Amino acid sequence: MVREKIVGAALSDDDFDQNLRPQRMHDMIGQQDVCARLRIAMDAALKRGEALGHVLFDGPPGLGKTTFATCIPNELGVSVQLASGAVLKAPKDLVPYLTNAEERSVLFIDEIHRLPRAVEEYLYTAMEDFRIDIVLGEGVNARTHNLWLKPFTMIGATTRAGMLSGPLRDRFQLREHLGFYTVDELTALVMRNARKLSVPIDTDAAQEIATRSRSTPRVANNRLRWVRDYATSRSDGHVTLRIAHEALEMAGIDTAGLDSQDRRYLETLIRVFDGGPAGVEAIAHTMNTSADTLEDEVEPFLLRTEFVVRTPRGRTATSKAYQHLQFAAPEKRLF
Ligand code: ADP
Repeated sequence: MVREKIVGAALSDDDFDQNLRPQRMHDMIGQQDVCARLRIAMDAALKRGEALGHVLFDGPPGLGKTTFATCIPNELGVSVQLASGAVLKAPKDLVPYLTNAEERSVLFIDEIHRLPRAVEEYLYTAMEDFRIDIVLGEGVNARTHNLWLKPFTMIGATTRAGMLSGPLRDRFQLREHLGFYTVDELTALVMRNARKLSVPIDTDAAQEIATRSRSTPRVANNRLRWVRDYATSRSDGHVTLRIAHEALEMAGIDTAGLDSQDRRYLETLIRVFDGGPAGVEAIAHTMNTSADTLEDEVEPFLLRTEFVVRTPRGRTATSKAYQHLQFAAPEKRLF
């Protein structure tokens, strides 16, 4: 089957992300402090002709960890290998990456907190001395050989820095935490990405999308993609404030950026559990979903935006949640 790219047709998820992901640091929006520190470290490494020190990025999903890891090798003009902590199950899975690493190249390991302890430990000497031990032969003939690696840069990304062992964390010379983005930054991101996609958009419409994007670039890109489809289908493709508003309402995304699942969580907590405290298992059971889904996908945003608090006795809805969902405030708060 011949796949033709029709001008103006919707891009696949991969194309879409690929098209919008900045390739160079000057394309990145926000994270100015992180950019500034990285620029200094990269400049110094280039001037000395050395590999950049290992870099660890941590922070919630969608904030730019992979994007930084994409930009750094481009800035340094070196090759990059991509791996994921989820698939490196044993030291032998890591060996090809380490031995293939060219001088000063980048090895990016996403979800590095998922590396098993044995693989983590194998990385210690690779990162510190650019040396690994490999075992050749079997049984009584087995011999351990020392193998020298070319100096390379390890870039790790994690949503859970606390799960990394201390010795691994300490082997990263640069550790950068990525924080959430302001509405102004996300407005600039939406405007720029709309331009890249040749979507005409008004500034107030971009701001509306930014406001409802949970302070997260990946969410802003997804909202933009939906609004763009809506504008193409329902009007002439120009994204005005009215169009953005209608599209987001139709997708169930409200003014605080909550989606229908977030609101169902809050409604369940308020209506069924009198606002809490309630255990996440009990809430999940009532909503007919799993506690993991709630803990990973729903609660982080509701906790961060203070719609919910976690107490030792369980989750409790705050007065902000009552107001937002227009429930009458309870007579006496339980926390
Ligand atoms: P993470 O690896 O932290 O989960 P990504 O780096 O994959 O997040 O970012 C998700 C998407 O958001 C990227 O495809 C990119 O288009 C966009 N993005 C993230 N950070 C920025 C940024 N600082 N400037 C511009 N776009 C960004």
